[in-house]
Amino acid sequence: MKKIAILVTILLFLLLIWQCGNNGDTMTGQKQPMKKAAAVDKAVISKVTDALIKKHGDENAERIKRGVRHAAGLWRQSDGSSEAFETFCLDHFIAAEEERELVFKKLSRNFEVILGHFNKIELDLKAPLHLDAGEIHPIDQIFGGCDVGSHLDEDFYRNKIAFIVALNFPYYSLDEKKKLGRDWSRKEWAYARLGDFYISRVPAELKQKYSEVNSNARVYISQYNIYAGKLVNDKGEKLFPKDLILLSHWNLRDELIANYGTARGMEKQRMIYEVMKRIISQEIPQQVINSNQWDWNPYQNKVFKDGEVVELKPEPNTRYQHILNSFRALKAADAYYPPSMDTFIKRKFAGEMEIPQPEVEALFIKFISSPQVKKTAQLIRSRLKRDLEPFDIWYDGFTARSGISEEKLNAITRKKYPTAKALETDLTNILLKLGFSREKADFLASKIVVEAARGSGHAWGPEMKAEKAHLRTRVPTDGMNYKGYVIAVHEFGHNVEQIVSLNDVDYYMMQGVPNTAFTEALAYIFQKQNLDLLGIKETNPDKDYLKALETCWNAYEIMGVSLLDMRTWKWMYEHPEANVQQLKEAVIRIAKDIWNNYYADVFGGVKDQPILAVYSHMIHYPLYLTGYAYGELIKFQIEQHLESKDFAAEVERMFSAGRLTPNLWMKNAAGKEIAIEPILQATDEALKHIK
Ligand SMILES: [Zn+2]
Repeated sequence: MKKIAILVTILLFLLLIWQCGNNGDTMTGQKQPMKKAAAVDKAVISKVTDALIKKHGDENAERIKRGVRHAAGLWRQSDGSSEAFETFCLDHFIAAEEERELVFKKLSRNFEVILGHFNKIELDLKAPLHLDAGEIHPIDQIFGGCDVGSHLDEDFYRNKIAFIVALNFPYYSLDEKKKLGRDWSRKEWAYARLGDFYISRVPAELKQKYSEVNSNARVYISQYNIYAGKLVNDKGEKLFPKDLILLSHWNLRDELIANYGTARGMEKQRMIYEVMKRIISQEIPQQVINSNQWDWNPYQNKVFKDGEVVELKPEPNTRYQHILNSFRALKAADAYYPPSMDTFIKRKFAGEMEIPQPEVEALFIKFISSPQVKKTAQLIRSRLKRDLEPFDIWYDGFTARSGISEEKLNAITRKKYPTAKALETDLTNILLKLGFSREKADFLASKIVVEAARGSGHAWGPEMKAEKAHLRTRVPTDGMNYKGYVIAVHEFGHNVEQIVSLNDVDYYMMQGVPNTAFTEALAYIFQKQNLDLLGIKETNPDKDYLKALETCWNAYEIMGVSLLDMRTWKWMYEHPEANVQQLKEAVIRIAKDIWNNYYADVFGGVKDQPILAVYSHMIHYPLYLTGYAYGELIKFQIEQHLESKDFAAEVERMFSAGRLTPNLWMKNAAGKEIAIEPILQATDEALKHIK
């Protein structure tokens, strides 16, 4: 299920508040500040470092150097003079481990208090918006948009708590965490996680600028509808239902998928692909976007009004302008980060995902060049009984579908769960069925509240042990339908992760999972068991084989798309002065290159296809797509590991490791680092059985 859980958004959001607090810096008025003005210069850093080493001895030298350097990087003129910095360091550096540990414990406790309560405030303020509880009044929206924690960072720089953390629990880059982290004790890991709290101080103007740019991109994407009912072929025929409106790219892709095996399905699929190509090339007439005023033949790129050809202007590269705007806004913040995070690419990969970008790229290339992908393509060709077309990157014929009608399933879930409370009461039971001990099941269930959602559903975790997680799904007045139930089981998986990784992790600073893919993995594994949990046994003996092939093909598609996203960003950093036309040409060229290198052969030799460039995420979620692709690997590996083990015991063990780096987490969980081999091996096995 490709969806972002709200919980994750919240975590990221909190992280952003922490990392990028408002600090009152002002821009100097220079066009592009290459480096922020250092409030504490190198000479002062050496002087303070030497003085501290003299005072506390050589055994503390390493920590002193690191701490002073990091604190100096965050110090601004508004925090005080160089002398004030010097005095601060001499007064606040903690040499004795006993005292350092004491301060660490106090910081952990207090951060839990603060983060936990801010989370609770936000949850409660947003409740009228998120819960199915009557009409929303405009005042609810204002409260729902309140960001009560937004000044916390500023406050903590002012009262110097942020500097005490930076000086005594300094930041370690991902490289350092990877190198040193293997030998760290749990306590040292927790110290390092505390060190992640204060990494940068990006001026408020820059953050606002990006937020504005991103919001514009979101609006652009949210209104990019194609009126499929107005599409005509060369014979002037309309193939789609009159009122069908497709949001690009999701609905276009889903409609394409829905047309495998339907009457004139292939014609419809080809037509959608023509539309996609016009969007990518921006030859699409501006006025057909989000409008039902015109008939449009995407093959000829001709527009008709009452049967007469009308000349309309193409979209003026707006798609690429949004990417460029994001790039410029994000790049402007580069100078405010330490060297290990001084590009958006590094922040996204080494920072947020905690996997270096080159490593991800190498892994993806290895996967998409693998013979297993080619063999899977051959199987698809023989199943479709035709040569592959570029849009078959979305072939979904391996998806195992339940033999029971949705209607019947709806009846079952409505009866079983007439209200949110009914599900809440049943949570212990579900956990027992999954193999949790009575004691553990009772504990976990006691920590989860089920509520009827206004939207489709989400899981919202607590940030403090005293609080509960919230499971939200649709519960209409006639009871929970099957769709709502499946979402509930998915969100329940998130909740279990949230509770285990908060309550069973030894240090609060280590709570959580390495990145969003890990919580999605458990949610998905729960979701997969939804029929079992209703007492319905799935009978398809090929289901695991089909699953492997489906994962392989999905990964092949999304890795190509991610590769394009990554290479586009690398290209922008290499060509920071590029204009929108040059960016468009580069994206299309890179998309075709990737296609020609890794897809053309698999797709029967057809070259120069730009299809990988159609994803909307590239426009409004910069560098987000890799998370999906990497998530496929993580999910598969965790799932495979759990298959042969005591499910409940392993879930508890794996998720109580907390926020290690992804590879260390996986090594601890499944004995190996994150790899492509598990999917490839399962694909090999499946190819022997599925014809
Ligand atoms: Zn999810």
